[in-house]
Amino acid sequence: MRIIDQIYIDGAFVTPHGTEMFDLHNPATEEVIGQVRLGDIADTHAAVAAAKRAFVTFSRTTKAERIALLKQLHAAVLARAEAMGAAMTLEYGAPQSRATWTGSYSAEAFLNAATVLETYEFSRRVGHAEVVMEPVGVVGVITPWNSNAGFICSKLAMAVAAGCSVVIKPSEMSAIQTQVVLEALHEAGLPKGVLNVVNGRGDVVGAELSRHPDVAKISFTGSTVVGKAILTAGADTMKRVTLELGGKSPTVILDDADLAAAIPMAVSAGFVNSGQACIAGTRILVPEARIDAVKALIVQAVAKVKCGDPRDPDTEIGPMVSEKQWQRVQRYIRLGVEEGATLIAGGEGRPKGIDRGYFIRPTVFADVRSDMTIAREEIFGPVLSVITYRSEAEAIAIANDTTYGLQAVVLSGDPARARNVAAQLNAGRVLINTLEHEPLAPFGGFKQSGLGREGGTFGLEAHLEPKSVLGVFVD
Ligand code: NAD
Repeated sequence: MRIIDQIYIDGAFVTPHGTEMFDLHNPATEEVIGQVRLGDIADTHAAVAAAKRAFVTFSRTTKAERIALLKQLHAAVLARAEAMGAAMTLEYGAPQSRATWTGSYSAEAFLNAATVLETYEFSRRVGHAEVVMEPVGVVGVITPWNSNAGFICSKLAMAVAAGCSVVIKPSEMSAIQTQVVLEALHEAGLPKGVLNVVNGRGDVVGAELSRHPDVAKISFTGSTVVGKAILTAGADTMKRVTLELGGKSPTVILDDADLAAAIPMAVSAGFVNSGQACIAGTRILVPEARIDAVKALIVQAVAKVKCGDPRDPDTEIGPMVSEKQWQRVQRYIRLGVEEGATLIAGGEGRPKGIDRGYFIRPTVFADVRSDMTIAREEIFGPVLSVITYRSEAEAIAIANDTTYGLQAVVLSGDPARARNVAAQLNAGRVLINTLEHEPLAPFGGFKQSGLGREGGTFGLEAHLEPKSVLGVFVD
């Protein structure tokens, strides 16, 4: 049993004022593996006060000083990357390949921020004015369980690059990952108060950060429903917000695509992180004329997907994070059948041979219409919908027929044609014949997938306020 009973305020691990203990589970075994002591409103206030004090000095540090700090943070997190990966596998069942990737990605976030900072000009001339980009203030960071350590690092990296101090409210379900990453960050030598971390409930610590007058900005990744609550709570103090929310991303397979290559890629895009990913390509759009070939290839591709113990390096789909999430995904599978879609892979219950753990059978529905619930709502599990179209225009219309707009994938034999389709898709990121990530490019959603962008210069500027100073240039 792992007991995590300290939070991090003003450069030190301290016992929280809050006393509630929260169970941590291993979703692969359903066992309770630890407990975290949750902070409360008093702890949130102490953390914000520490961040506010630190901001006075930290906001005036030079670019060179912050680049040096970012490099120290990178080295410290890299040294713990393996331990972070192991914690992710233990705590939310991340398949080992995903956990390993996130471990190194988390460390690289600091180097990426340093790279952006190296060429960024904080002062520029516009007409007769000098425009100075100033750090926005104390940033409240709120993270989800599906990439808690990764988002702690990427959000902290950009805040530090900008000269902001932070109070982080990590996912309460991810306290072991938070502890591992926090021990690394503590060793990196940030000035006291620049980083504060309060484990706690979303509706307590998260909500208090969202309305606290001394918090200038919230950087949130999580569900659209909570994103809306944060936006509302922050309105009174006019908070700046970056909201990275849910998705129902389309994978558009054009009629000239090589199906033998496209289908395995579409299935991988849908099952990424066991389907527990905001960017998961959960709607596969295929030409009606090729549906029989598509179905056969999907059945083949899904049969090859290994589902089970996330510590096994061959496993592609691990368990759902919690029993609640398992029940939720089961409900969607039932709903799909009730609404008239056809199961071509998977279905309700656990995969064959697995009798405990929150495992789901990798599931694909065909004969899905765009108005069905399974095609509209974010399921957050390995459940995919195949939707047919008759023309390229109809494919684009179906792809855009969603309240979300985080990502889209276009698979085609003709890059120019794919580029033209990409131009018509309402999504913050479009991947053409690839599932690659570019950390320096802006990341974020159109429509209800979010507000603002993270990554690269766009992510840095989301932590800065432009100030125009006139009377400086006399010519
Ligand atoms: P969630 O919205 O339930 O929780 C996210 C965080 O918000 C947690 O730390 C939670 O404690 C906190 N929270 C809950 N209520 C709050 C409130 N009233 N005020 C402030 N904070 C509150 O999401 P989750 O279940 O942890 O994560 C899954 C969701 O995250 C999915 O919808 C997924 O699409 C989304 N997500 C988005 C991205 C992206 O970059 N767009 C990335 C990963 C996950």
